Amino acid sequence: MTENDKLKTLKLLAKRYARATGQPLHVALDLVASRLGFPHWNSLTGSAKGEWAPSEAQVAAIKALVLRITSHEGTTFDHIFGGADAITRGEVRGHPYELSTMLGDVHMKGDSWRIVLPENPSAAPHVEIDIEQAQNNPMNDRVLLVEAIGIAKDLMKRVNARRFADWPRRATKPDAEGKVRHPLLEMEETNRWYCLHCDAEITGPQIAGNQWHCPGCGASPINIFPEAFWLGPNDERPVPVQARAEGQEIEPIVSVVDPRPRLDLNKDQVTHLIRAALFEDTTNASERMGAGLAEIWVDDDLNVVVSFKDHYWPEDKEPVAAIKVAALLGIEIDLEVTWSNPLFAWPGLGTVTHSTVEYTRLMLDAYRSHGTVEKTRKPITPQSELL
Ligand SMILES: [Zn+2]
Repeated sequence: MTENDKLKTLKLLAKRYARATGQPLHVALDLVASRLGFPHWNSLTGSAKGEWAPSEAQVAAIKALVLRITSHEGTTFDHIFGGADAITRGEVRGHPYELSTMLGDVHMKGDSWRIVLPENPSAAPHVEIDIEQAQNNPMNDRVLLVEAIGIAKDLMKRVNARRFADWPRRATKPDAEGKVRHPLLEMEETNRWYCLHCDAEITGPQIAGNQWHCPGCGASPINIFPEAFWLGPNDERPVPVQARAEGQEIEPIVSVVDPRPRLDLNKDQVTHLIRAALFEDTTNASERMGAGLAEIWVDDDLNVVVSFKDHYWPEDKEPVAAIKVAALLGIEIDLEVTWSNPLFAWPGLGTVTHSTVEYTRLMLDAYRSHGTVEKTRKPITPQSELL
């Protein structure tokens, strides 16, 4: 493996890890870096530009770690995390229900009610009652509700039993010093653990007793690490977690809901609609880049400011579709054009064609004839090979 291949492999492994654990790629990259003794991924790539290179053994170790985690995606996780066909039907005091598991949670579905029992043992069961049947809902009967939750808990127990069977024994049984082993990740045994989400410091018995969910914020086992490697020297140090008193019964949270889809417009949705409209407003490759480069600010009242980059959006051009979308949403839209460095020299080239491929070709040709082209890691394919 060349040095470059090794880095590529590490990045690929981080991607696989991120996908399997549902975490952002940058968290996975930083995790890989920390396993190799770097505070974060950028410092690893920085060192890789100089003298340092990962050894074959280091790459193999990361590969083994990721394989260990991603192998849970397959057969083991199927029965633990359930699937579309894994449904148990039954009746609770004459009321039919369907039981299933999804991502570790147990879901129980009745005619006009649903119960979700979270995988995190210290989280309350959620009970949803449909608004139309709120008055005469079977879940209004306390005895029935407790019985239904008991059925869900029973399935959770069986799912957990199978899950814990795959865990090392030391993950659930602390030793005399309170040291425990991580159930999914290959790490040293210790009696101090840290939550990636809330930075809490958790003892071995606490984390084992809560089935490796953070007792503070409920984060899942893959977020629990023996060192708080994500904290920089200037970050606040982790403090011991505030855990619930042992044996305390958890009251279910009951809510009356309208099961119909409900639109509660947020900033993200507004941003995407406006961005999509900007693309619709473009008439050439340059403006299309402008639609991508435009900064879209949405305030708390969902009013929008679109800030175009001057090289990629004509100052007097009205984004007609974006303005119409804003009108439909009942929000204000302000437009501005700000100066910035163009992405490439001769940005005007993008205005002569609709095609991004054609623009790229023109741009490369211009650099070749009137500028210089740096050697890149990948050689730029000569036009003749593309044709
Ligand atoms: Zn936490």
